[in-house]
Amino acid sequence: MNKIEHLGIAVEDLKASSKLFEMLLGNAPYKEENVESEGVTTLFFNLGESKIELLQSHSSDGPIGKFISKRGPGFHHVAIAVNDIEFEIKRLKEAGFEVLNDIPKQGADNKLICFLHPKSTGGLLVELCQERN
Ligand code: ZN
Repeated sequence: MNKIEHLGIAVEDLKASSKLFEMLLGNAPYKEENVESEGVTTLFFNLGESKIELLQSHSSDGPIGKFISKRGPGFHHVAIAVNDIEFEIKRLKEAGFEVLNDIPKQGADNKLICFLHPKSTGGLLVELCQERN
């Protein structure tokens, strides 16, 4: 595993949060992207070697919508960059971690992704991500 690729933050209002994070980080977002498969619109900010991803749900019953109605907006997941996501999925499953998708899926920002269930990681939602070539 290489580094923290990004931190995912669940937000209720992408426009308002975009302004807030632009002030906080001192730079503008570089990308906005709809991820239909996840039911979210995402916005990315560069932060040194890492990024901040804001996620707004398209509906209240998507994963981010449900998260916000349970816990309110805020920190949602940590994404770790890996070179070989299929190898890491296999390695982590063998080590007893629960993966939410066995087969890597298309995520935002041109990545292949896989989530690990928080109940197997001590409460942290972990996203593995591999840059697509
Ligand atoms: Zn993410």
